[in-house]
Amino acid sequence: MQKSKLWIGTSWKMNKTLAEAREYADTVAAAVEDDAGLTRSVEAFVIPSHTAIATVAERLGRWANTVGGFRVGAQNAHWQDSGAWTGEVSMPQIKDAGATMVEIGHSERRTHFHETVETTRFKVESALRHGLVPLLCIGEPAETRDRGHTCSYILAQARGALAGLQRQELAQVLIAYEPRWAIGALGRPARGEELAGPFAALRSEYGGVVAGLLYGGSVTLDNMPDLLALEDVDGLFVGRAAWHAEDFVELLR
Ligand code: PGA
Repeated sequence: MQKSKLWIGTSWKMNKTLAEAREYADTVAAAVEDDAGLTRSVEAFVIPSHTAIATVAERLGRWANTVGGFRVGAQNAHWQDSGAWTGEVSMPQIKDAGATMVEIGHSERRTHFHETVETTRFKVESALRHGLVPLLCIGEPAETRDRGHTCSYILAQARGALAGLQRQELAQVLIAYEPRWAIGALGRPARGEELAGPFAALRSEYGGVVAGLLYGGSVTLDNMPDLLALEDVDGLFVGRAAWHAEDFVELLR
């Protein structure tokens, strides 16, 4: 089935200096200028560290909000608009820096920073209030998969984070299914047969309701075609394989 719109994006996690961010964004911008068709049917996004949002948005933001344009996002933001929250950055602040989307509930945030279903809900609500696209990340640990509880686990994460939203608000949300065991250098990509169940569950509850269902976890140029061939997958959320600008451009191609 030909998909009308694909989401392809990357989070840099805690990587890149400003100079490296600038070089990356300039390379991607030059590739898009060279080949306007590069993102014609792709909604591309780049999610740098907070320190580089403005720099990347200046370079790629001119294509923001166009079909097949670039969005720049943040990897996290607090749900309060301002106040005594030392070390945190708010949704209005990331928006001011040029972000139009925000990652919420990545497994590294849940594991290392005690992000809970409740805080993901606060953050989704705050993002929507400020007109930012929430990219909600969900995914189960290996033990949950091994016990056969993946679907109930990820649906509980999604339902908890999206509780109480109106239909038009849900239509702004992206969900990235990223099994925890598939992420990072120690992970391995999920196989098609492992994704069929979780995506069918997400599709039956959120298909046509949210803006898109993405897969993330050890995506590479090699496994990308098979992942995108899965019927319920609307896009890919890529880590390591897109940290070089040339590789990201290849993925977009
Ligand atoms: P990875 O990261 O592609 O490097 O596994 C994916 C993610 O954390 O979203």
